[in-house]
Amino acid sequence: MEDRTERRQALLAAVRRGADLLREGGSALDAVQVTVAELEDDTRFNAGTGSVLNSVGTVEMDASVMVMERGRGGEARISAGAVAAVSRVKNPLMLARAVMEETAHVMLAGSGAHRFARRAGIELCRVEDLITARARERWRARQLQFRKQGSSAAAPSTVGAVAIDSNGNIAAGTSTGGIPGKIPGRVGDSAIVGAGTFVSARGGASATGHGEAIILAGLCREAVAALLGQSPSSVARRAVATLLAPAKAEGGIVIVDRKARIGFAHNAAAMQVATFDSAELRHCWVEPLRLARTS
Ligand code: ASP
Repeated sequence: MEDRTERRQALLAAVRRGADLLREGGSALDAVQVTVAELEDDTRFNAGTGSVLNSVGTVEMDASVMVMERGRGGEARISAGAVAAVSRVKNPLMLARAVMEETAHVMLAGSGAHRFARRAGIELCRVEDLITARARERWRARQLQFRKQGSSAAAPSTVGAVAIDSNGNIAAGTSTGGIPGKIPGRVGDSAIVGAGTFVSARGGASATGHGEAIILAGLCREAVAALLGQSPSSVARRAVATLLAPAKAEGGIVIVDRKARIGFAHNAAAMQVATFDSAELRHCWVEPLRLARTS
């Protein structure tokens, strides 16, 4: 399980970067972006470089980001950006943020997203630059399984982050290479606001797992809506147990509410979560939490 230990260390390092930024007065949005970018650049995660490959052996990545910022009068302003099926950017979440900040749209896909990236000053890379030898090997091994079953399980290591800053602004972001062996053009929950990422004045959430089930459940939106009167921990557990488990779907969610309380839960084979609690100025990592599945 060396890989898992290495991933844990990488996760901690990434969260520490976001936490340092928050401690220095940085915004929740910047904290989410630096944390996710660090994980996108780490080849051990299924996002950015090292993403899993689709059925034709290439990379198509999804990412989304959403933020709730307080205006001068304290009013909540919500914005979101997303990219779907992109294959030529190293940091899809950064591109999603550019869509949010520099266009009148919420989501751009494929070649249009690449064209926009160039305009936004985000360097394009070759798709080969994102494909690691390990991803290629795994793709070959999975091809057989995929042909037999017609689908493939979600790959671990999609990345996401949720943060609240000292001004009470809340941001969440998610980035992934998606499900291995997916049909080219398939877009999962990580690109879909309300499914893989959601933020409101109540809090923010980011999800991982079987994208189709997460989209059908509107998982993050449902979870954030449920924050009224419930702790993020119980919301996370209920979201997984009532929205995903009955569909026999694997997945997980991380949530931060407007009081900076943290919650997470999953029913997947593995999910690592790193948390930083600024009230106590400490961080910790948590091994996968197994929930009893409802069958
Ligand atoms: N949710 C992602 C997708 O379906 C995959 C994952 O989180 O592992 O694209």
